[in-house]
Amino acid sequence: MCFTVLAALVSCNTNNGEDLTIDNGKIKFSFSKENGSLVVFQDLIHGYEFLDDKKTMELPWEIDFNQAQDSLQLPLDFEYSKLDPLTLVLKWENFKGDNNKELTVTAEIKLDRDKALSYWKISLDGTQGKEINTVVFPKINGFKDLRQEKLALPKIMGELLTDPRGILSAKKTEEKRMEWVYPDHLSLQCLALYNADKIGLYLASNDTLTYRKGFSFDLDGANNLTYEMSNYPSFDANANSYSPTYEAVIGSFKGDWITAAEEYREWGSQQKWSAESRFKKGLNPDWLEETALWVWNRGRSDNVLLPATELKEKLGLPVNVFWHWWHGCSYDEGFPEYFPPREGGESFIKAMKLAQQKGVHSIVYMNSFQWGDSTESWKTENAAVHAVKDINGNLRSHAYNIFTGNSLTNMCMGTQFWKDKYTSLSESAVNTYGTNGVYMDQACMTKVCYDKAHGHEIGNGNYWLKNFGLLTDQIRSKISIVKEPILAGEHGNESWMPYLDLFLTLQVSRERYSGIGQWETIPFFQAVYHEYAITYGNYSSLVTPPYDELWPKEFAPSNQEQPLDPIFNKQFLMEQARSYVWGMQPTISNYHSFLDTQRKEEIDYLLNLAKIRYQGLKYLLHGKFLRAPSMQIPEEELNISKLSIYAGRKGKNVTAYKKKYPLAYAGAWKADDGNVGIALTSISEKHMLINFDVDTKDYDLPSSGEIYIINNDGRKLLTSYKDHAITVEHQLKPREVCLIEIIPSP
Ligand SMILES: [Zn+2]
Repeated sequence: MCFTVLAALVSCNTNNGEDLTIDNGKIKFSFSKENGSLVVFQDLIHGYEFLDDKKTMELPWEIDFNQAQDSLQLPLDFEYSKLDPLTLVLKWENFKGDNNKELTVTAEIKLDRDKALSYWKISLDGTQGKEINTVVFPKINGFKDLRQEKLALPKIMGELLTDPRGILSAKKTEEKRMEWVYPDHLSLQCLALYNADKIGLYLASNDTLTYRKGFSFDLDGANNLTYEMSNYPSFDANANSYSPTYEAVIGSFKGDWITAAEEYREWGSQQKWSAESRFKKGLNPDWLEETALWVWNRGRSDNVLLPATELKEKLGLPVNVFWHWWHGCSYDEGFPEYFPPREGGESFIKAMKLAQQKGVHSIVYMNSFQWGDSTESWKTENAAVHAVKDINGNLRSHAYNIFTGNSLTNMCMGTQFWKDKYTSLSESAVNTYGTNGVYMDQACMTKVCYDKAHGHEIGNGNYWLKNFGLLTDQIRSKISIVKEPILAGEHGNESWMPYLDLFLTLQVSRERYSGIGQWETIPFFQAVYHEYAITYGNYSSLVTPPYDELWPKEFAPSNQEQPLDPIFNKQFLMEQARSYVWGMQPTISNYHSFLDTQRKEEIDYLLNLAKIRYQGLKYLLHGKFLRAPSMQIPEEELNISKLSIYAGRKGKNVTAYKKKYPLAYAGAWKADDGNVGIALTSISEKHMLINFDVDTKDYDLPSSGEIYIINNDGRKLLTSYKDHAITVEHQLKPREVCLIEIIPSP
């Protein structure tokens, strides 16, 4: 039959016997019989049509060939069939022009049997001799404005954009587009565009093999969005077909980003990377899990290990060190000439031993794929041969160091040369210099390499991660286990969970490097994978930025690592509060013992937070993310500082903003024993009454039990509950940190 919404748009042929509609009782799709464009996408439960009835009839795919002569010319023939009530097959063939006579494009769209989800798969045949840059599929245009829209992205940790359509509309460029690459920008493969009161779009992929892919939105002149997933085949002129090993997943949901994260978690937690996660398998050393606080300092051991050791004594719990600028070379230009350390090997080894005797473990910074092309070793080791080549055979170089302008060049993870080089550096760091492991900067990123001599697939594909896995295996086979070394990495990503022990998710302090904007940091990655990946890190600092002593003296600011303006103190509290309730290992940047007195309230808050957290590790380290109870929390305009380690260049190292933030933070976690822990903390200097209700069914808890509170006064019974209804009232003291435990009756 013809749908009325279509009647005006396509010539609907009722005589060919097939109805291009599939419906599973939850969602319904209809495709144009003219060219296969999606024209109906209905959520049947909530009675919502996602697509504008005036949308244009664009093909649901697009192919970008590397050679101009392969470009597709329309028209083409379109055929279709319905394999079963939930599955449609769409086929395009007989393209115009000599070069694509053999080409056929086939799409299979299948609805889930039970859920409001669908699976989209594309296959290309007759591709022999062609180089394909991109196969966009699915491409769905005409998404109407949901009003009060939010876009949740697993951008490393997670980001929530308010009014993404408005952001796109305000772009000055003709092309109004937002795009992200997985795995580089995205830690998992799921986006959610929603109006929490109305309806939402769930946009994902079920790739288990970590192929690079892009997700994007474009805004058209009618204020409709086009969603695209871009697939990137590697170049293989001999292959006569291409079909991704995975499907795009498109669905509808009612809820918010947490609802979408829960949906994705159902799938993600079943995948190999979860089963093989080093954390879940207990492959990381106890000291890592026992870390109460990380100190992230820079420079010589006096500036790093000594303050950390002092802080450990003050805290009375394990403090470990994340160490930058220990190396002999200047930061962001001299890599990988890390050794010997800048203070001299003997001094470094001695300081390391002393810190370890006092129970302080240290991991040291080394970039996972960059080589400074102004270094001597770049020439003598002929590194360029093993570097990443772009599609034109050029090196990929970038000058991060604004003082010298010297650049770093990407080395190719697919080469044995680089794996051997990085392994030998790691051996030096652990076996010779006695560190407790390596932090691999830019670890959860991938690069595209077209060097045919490297032996990997050409261009795109998934060889970077495979080779990263080989690299970490090789490192672990060579480094001594005496120091119980770990491998940490920048960013978080599902696919890296079997290879890294620890993930740096700095978005918890994103304002420090991005200022403020229309985004809000959310713990998307932790919501999906908390019990499979330990996350840490925070730019949270109470001092002005340090300056690498190996950078040009003339740019050195006079006020390095001096207390920041106290107006920014509350930003520090806010960042620490987020990291506590979001289940991260707390971290302070650029700690010095003078802060114990000069920023006493902030340091006391951090130490208190670390102590309370330590009593709830079964929730805050090992627990599964739950939606925190809804609470009325006052907001306040905070002074926000943006500062960078490179900001001293023009004598201006802090940019200030103001934005409203909540004065209390909450996060809920479920332990393996079934208990629920609600981390709660105030950053206000005033008392704050907190009330909340929990329906035990929301947390899958039995109907009765007891509620305890852990805070500075110890652990005590707060109340008990029955008949599934939990009511908690607690007066938070100024800057109180507490953990509320829900213990069901046996
Ligand atoms: Zn390569």
